[in-house]
Amino acid sequence: MIDHRRLGRELELFVSDPLVGAGLPIWLPAGAAARHAVEEYVRDLERRAGYRHVYSPPLGKRELFELSGHLGYFAADMFPPMRLSADDEFVLRPALCPHHALVFRARGRSYRELPLRIAEIGGMYRAERSGVLGGLSRVRAISLNDAHNFCALDQVGEEVREILRLIGEAHAALGVRPAGFRLSLRGPGEKYVGDDAQWARAEELLRAALDGVAYTEAPGEAAFYGPKIDIQVVDAAGRESTISTVQLDFDKPERFDLSYTAADGSRQRPVMVHRSLVGSMERLFAYLIEVHQGAFPVWYAPVQLVLLPVDDGQAAAAEALARRAGAAGLRVEVDHGGSLGARVRDAARRRIPYAGVIGAREAAAGAVALRLRDGRSLPPMPADEALALLDRMVTTHSAALLP
Ligand SMILES: [Zn+2]
Repeated sequence: MIDHRRLGRELELFVSDPLVGAGLPIWLPAGAAARHAVEEYVRDLERRAGYRHVYSPPLGKRELFELSGHLGYFAADMFPPMRLSADDEFVLRPALCPHHALVFRARGRSYRELPLRIAEIGGMYRAERSGVLGGLSRVRAISLNDAHNFCALDQVGEEVREILRLIGEAHAALGVRPAGFRLSLRGPGEKYVGDDAQWARAEELLRAALDGVAYTEAPGEAAFYGPKIDIQVVDAAGRESTISTVQLDFDKPERFDLSYTAADGSRQRPVMVHRSLVGSMERLFAYLIEVHQGAFPVWYAPVQLVLLPVDDGQAAAAEALARRAGAAGLRVEVDHGGSLGARVRDAARRRIPYAGVIGAREAAAGAVALRLRDGRSLPPMPADEALALLDRMVTTHSAALLP
């Protein structure tokens, strides 16, 4: 069976160490390179869609999480507070919403600024029991692709539809294949804030945004502050998890007393839409490693091109081409050691999309012969042409190795 933990070890993507602790993986250079490419892509996609990015610290004073409701409704999933002195206690945040509410509140807001979309790939912490932790799929330190879109009530429908469109675009680029959409609703019990009218209105808005989309309903899966649309994936072991989510929240704007000045000069309360296009980097990569069996699309492959001089006579030509490819933004290596056949096999084992073979004839002609990781080979081509081909596959976020 494909297991992201085994592939993560073999491909040197991440490692866990008992000295750090369970659920606290370290991203190794190859995994970090892939994640960095994905983070850049997501930030760029968001920026083009009108999001504004912030940085906020992954902890805050106890009072912040009392105000947000997390300590009242979510404490069982949080690390215990850290006490510096009798009146100075800090909490590792279990979500980014409280900090982003303070971004909205940092100054007066006008209706002209709405929807105000505050985004961050930010750190947060969950006190998961050690028995459920494994690789990247369940962790205690989480880097979430998150945003909070502050809207007027009549903007919510369009905003949610646009978020669903962005989620579809990101999934296509990454190779995420959703197993289904889920409308997560309130269940029985006292673990929810807000009144019935708020919940009914939020549910109605989400149902309207899902018009034309097939979805299932899941009572009891809502956030404590509101219903949500969850986009589910299934891992290699058949376990379902949420990778993307859109949540409506009338409660936090009240708790934080958020308001904006409407066109008629009155003070109005915004609605807060919590959304994640691709979820946490950890869960996303647990899924991507398995669904691609480690063979990521070219644009986020840790190494995109390895150059293989046939013998020492072509070493200088290979190094020169590697410098050009690196300057063009590609992640490139030169592999000098061992027989050519062994190096080609090693490149395929590492799921490197392209191996560029340079023999005496190619070196003399300024050419390279590409071998693809799926076993196909291309005839020698000018180095410029090869670099242009790779650039095209990267910039179009193609899932294929050839146009
Ligand atoms: Zn949130």
